[in-house]
This record gives sequence, structure tokens and C-alpha cells, in this order.
Amino acid sequence: MEVSQRAPGRWQIATVTEVKRETPRVKSFRLVLPMWMPHLPGQHYDVRLTAPDGYRAQRSYSVASSPLEKGTVELTIDRLADGEVSPYFHDVVEVGDQVEVRGPFASYFVWRGESPVLLVGGGSGVVPLMAMLRHRRLTHDHGQMRLIYSVRHADDVIFAGEIDGDATLTFTRDAPPGWAGHTGHIDAGMFTAADHSDGTVFICGSNGFVEAAADLAMTAGFDPARIRTERFGPTG
Ligand SMILES: Cc1cc2nc3c(=O)[nH]c(=O)nc-3n(C[C@H](O)[C@H](O)[C@H](O)COP(=O)(O)OP(=O)(O)OC[C@H]3O[C@@H](n4cnc5c(N)ncnc54)[C@H](O)[C@@H]3O)c2cc1C
Repeated sequence: MEVSQRAPGRWQIATVTEVKRETPRVKSFRLVLPMWMPHLPGQHYDVRLTAPDGYRAQRSYSVASSPLEKGTVELTIDRLADGEVSPYFHDVVEVGDQVEVRGPFASYFVWRGESPVLLVGGGSGVVPLMAMLRHRRLTHDHGQMRLIYSVRHADDVIFAGEIDGDATLTFTRDAPPGWAGHTGHIDAGMFTAADHSDGTVFICGSNGFVEAAADLAMTAGFDPARIRTERFGPTG
């Protein structure tokens, strides 16, 4: 395969090889790519759907997997009830289906091995942060990485079994029965307790979440030059 064929800007047809339900609203899709190239944790792919009449819809989805999983990427998609593309993935796409993708993209919201690192995710904003956590584990990197993760409901925790020990969770609407941890919005105390303010912070989620978290990071003493943000949606 020629290197030029693997340019991130080229559309390619990926095959879905696994579909995994993560939460009632979130599914992960493993794609095998004919022109796969290694991504940096934090990068995303564009996905394009084409209707029989030629109408097209395109959206971006972060890679949840480590680049050490060669030939594949995992996309983790939150189903928005009134959305165009995310309900299609949830309700229509099955193992064996083909989808058009191009990537990987982004050069700013990427983890290149810095330490210490604080990850701050709201809802599906945890997806690119998971790629960072997974890659750190697979490379046996001993750098410090801590996740602050905000979800609404008890059953909204994506990657629940994988983040134990690395994450501080908060539930903004309803927590699991017997929950003794944080509830309500992320706050200054969570940033202070994470104690990584001499490092880099990656913040990802809705616009409102990212703005609130970036303010908290600045208050906690993070150098503004080391506050990296990624916004997923138009509203909080
Ligand atoms: C760089 C990047 C990476 C992304 N990575 C992921 C990811 O890993 N997983 C993931 O689930 N999503 C991710 N997104 C969001 C994704 O691209 C889509 O915006 C989302 O799936 C909605 O698309 P849709 O076609 O279903 O809804 P649309 O038809 O686009 O929108 C339906 C309604 O929902 C509102 N809306 C659109 N997007 C959002 C949102 N994110 N949150 C709340 N309301 C919204 C719209 O205003 C509209 O009212 C990412 C976005 C960007 C820019």
C-alpha cells in the first residue's frame, strides 16, 4: 500500500466488526480500516452517511481506542434522540456493515506522553480521554494521569469497568444507590484533590461543561497554555 493512499483526508470504507452497548444511550463501534494509520490519543475521525437520494450528513467522532490496536479504531457514540447521525448508528448499523470515514484529525487535543495529566470529561466527552487512558495502560507508561468524569445519571457511566482507580466521578442528576462520592457539578475541590496543576489538562464535553471546567482549571493554578479543550456540541 502506498503511503499517499493513507492520507487522513481521504475517505475510505470501513467495516464494522463489533458493536458493544456501553450504557442505555451509548454504543461503541469497532471499525476495520483498509487504509488505517496510527492516530494520536485524542484525535477524531469524520464519518459520512449518504442517503439513496444523495443527501449527505457528516459528523466527527473521537477515537476511543489506543493506536496500538493496529488496523482498527473504536468509536463510542452517544445517541441524541433528535439527531441525524447518532440514531442511525444506534438503530441501523450492525456488525458487517460498511461506513465511510476519514481521519485521523486534530493536532492540538492530543496526548503525546506528557505527565502529569488531568483529564476532565463530561458525558461522551470522556471518549477521547479514554483513548489516552487506554494508550497509557498499553504502553505501560508510568506518568501520572487522573480522570475527573461528570455524568448525569447512575447508568450514564461509559467505560465503567475500565476507569475504576483512575477516575473521580460525579453524578449531576441521580447517583447510584448508596453512592458516597461526589454529586452535582464539578467543583474546585475536585481539581485541588487531583493535584496535577503543574501539568496539562485535557477537557472535553459540551460547550457549557468545557467553559466551566476551563475556569476551574485556571483557578486551580493550571498554566492557561496547558489547558486543552475539545467541544462536542452546541449546547450544555
Ligand atoms: C471533534 C469532535 C469529536 C466528537 N466526538 C464524539 C464522540 O466521540 N462521541 C459522540 O457521541 N459525539 C462526538 N461528537 C459529537 C458528534 O460529532 C455529533 O455532533 C453528535 O453525534 C450529534 O450528531 P447527530 O447527527 O446525532 O445530531 P444533530 O442532527 O447534529 O443534532 C441534533 C440536535 O442535537 C443538538 N446537538 C448536536 N450535537 C450535540 C451534542 N454533542 N450534545 C448535545 N446536543 C447536540 C443539535 O443542536 C440538535 O438540536 C464529537 C464532535 C466533535 C466536534
